[in-house]
Order: sequence, then C-alpha cells, then structure tokens
Amino acid sequence: ELDTTEDNEADLKPRAPVVTIMGHVDHGKTSLLDALRGTSVTSGEAGGITQHIGAYQVTLKDKSQITFLDTPGHEAFSDMRARGANVTDIVVLVVAADDGLMPQTIEAINHTKAAGVPMIVAINKCDKPEANPQKVRERLLEHEVIVEEMSGDVQDVEVSALKKTGLDDLLDKIQLQAELLELKANPDRAAEGTVVEAKLDKGRGPVATILVNRGTLKVGDIFVVGAESGKVRAMIDDKGKQVKKAGPSTPVEVLGLSGVPMAGDQLQVVDTETKAREIAEYRQGVMQQKRTTQAPA
Ligand code: GDP
Repeated sequence: ELDTTEDNEADLKPRAPVVTIMGHVDHGKTSLLDALRGTSVTSGEAGGITQHIGAYQVTLKDKSQITFLDTPGHEAFSDMRARGANVTDIVVLVVAADDGLMPQTIEAINHTKAAGVPMIVAINKCDKPEANPQKVRERLLEHEVIVEEMSGDVQDVEVSALKKTGLDDLLDKIQLQAELLELKANPDRAAEGTVVEAKLDKGRGPVATILVNRGTLKVGDIFVVGAESGKVRAMIDDKGKQVKKAGPSTPVEVLGLSGVPMAGDQLQVVDTETKAREIAEYRQGVMQQKRTTQAPA
C-alpha cells in the first residue's frame, strides 16, 4: 500500500550523519551535547532560540551538518532499535578519563556492536588532574575496541566538555567517519521519517519530533505515523524557527497529528487523508487486538 520502493542510485544525494552519544552516567553525555551544540556556526543566529526537540543539527564552518540525537544513553537507542528504527549512523562513546570503563560503558559498547554502527571514543574530563586517557585506551582493548594508537581502526579523541577543548577534533572525526559511510538519501520523494520524541502539548496538541530519513517533509503533507495520522500544520526546527520543509537527516517538530505516536514509530507521507486514516485505524485495531489477547484472564 505504502510507497516503500527503493530509490534509484542517481536520485541519491549526500545527507548529514546522525549521531547518538552513549556512555556511563555522569561521564558527561549531556555536557558534551550542550558543548557541541554551542559549536554550530548558526547557533547564534538572530531570532533563533535553542529548542530541545530531541535532536539538533550543528552546522560546521564548511557548511556541512551533523545531526545529534539529544536523548543521551543507550536506553533510547535500544528502544528505538527494538521498534525497528535504526536512525543512528555513528555512536560517540563518552568515557570519563578519571573514572574509566564502567558497566554502562560496556553495555553501550555491546549495543553499538550489535547494531553494527561505527563508534568514535570521546575520552572526556581530560581537564581533570587525575585524568588517565591512556588507561581508558588500554581497558577498551579488553573489550575489543581498538583505537588507532593501538593499531586499531576506532578513532578516539581527548575532550573536555567543561573547558570545551577537543570539540573541533571530535567534529572532524565524525565528519571523517561519515565520509567513509557515504551516507545518501533521495530528497525528492514522499517523505519518510522516524519519531524521536512525542508528547501532548497543552496549547498545541499532539507534537512529534520527526527525523526525516528520506524525501522532504512539507507543510500540508498528509501522513500516517504509527497508529496515528495527520496533516502537517506547522513545522518548527531546533532553533525554534518555523520551516516550510525538512529534508533528509533534519529533525523537526511536527504539528497536526491525530494523537501522540511512540518514539521509534515511522512516519510516511501518503496521498489522501482517507488513506492515512484507514491505515492508522487498521493499526489501532491491530494494537487493540494485541492488548486483548495479551490481557490476563
Ligand atoms: P551524563 O550523566 O553522562 O549526562 O553527565 P553530565 O553531562 O550530566 O555530567 C556529569 C557531571 O560531570 C557534571 O557535574 C558535569 O559538570 C561534569 N562534567 C562533564 N564534563 C566534564 C568535563 O569535561 N570536565 C569536568 N571536570 N567535569 C565534567
């Protein structure tokens, strides 16, 4: 029913990498996300107010972009994967240089390996006198994460989210990794995307942050998302600006949904509102049936 056809090679255009930051609690994931956001050449743009919509884009000096998922931690990552959403192209593993490898670091390594996603290690808190980045590299070896210095192929970088050092180096390494992946998508087709975050907003009704996977999402587009449907009434980007369209790897807040979908749900643009409603109703029926059959007697 839905147009899920593969795109022709000739229609594919380069797209920005989508990055998830993982690591042990308190190792600096949130601090690093905030610091990286501040490196964007457009972050100081007039009228732009930072919006936390679940993902943001950094624009580098050469105008290329990197999309960061703003929900740190491997729970969001594995929840999304469990729902069939593989939106992450690159994982940045944060390890605090004073604390070293901890249980959630190892969990994150395992999740990343299971997903087959390339990893870059950010050794954080290098400003601390007790920081020991070399020990981190050695311990990583025990988990078969072999950094370049140890003649492996995993890039690593020493950073301090607090002092904002090593950030350009980290961004360079993400770009380098992205180039190797040759990430592409067709921007000229009906949009498909993934729900990164969704909520019921008091004033605006159901709102979902969609990360566009392929195609271009436009105001007025009719869509089905999980067991909900709708028509794009407005879109707001990560700088709080209203936008008319959003291409591949761009995160946008979408207004105009019939209800609140779940993180990891897929959005697809369809031709008619009737079709969108039919698919959504069918899916709601399936969900209802699952609940009834699973309910204890
Ligand atoms: P998360 O739980 O991984 O998101 O970690 P947070 O970003 O919340 O950071 C945990 C604590 O470590 C906070 O008190 C931060 O201020 C601190 N922190 C984060 N990055 C650095 C750093 O580069 N250097 C130092 N000295 N402290 C940091």
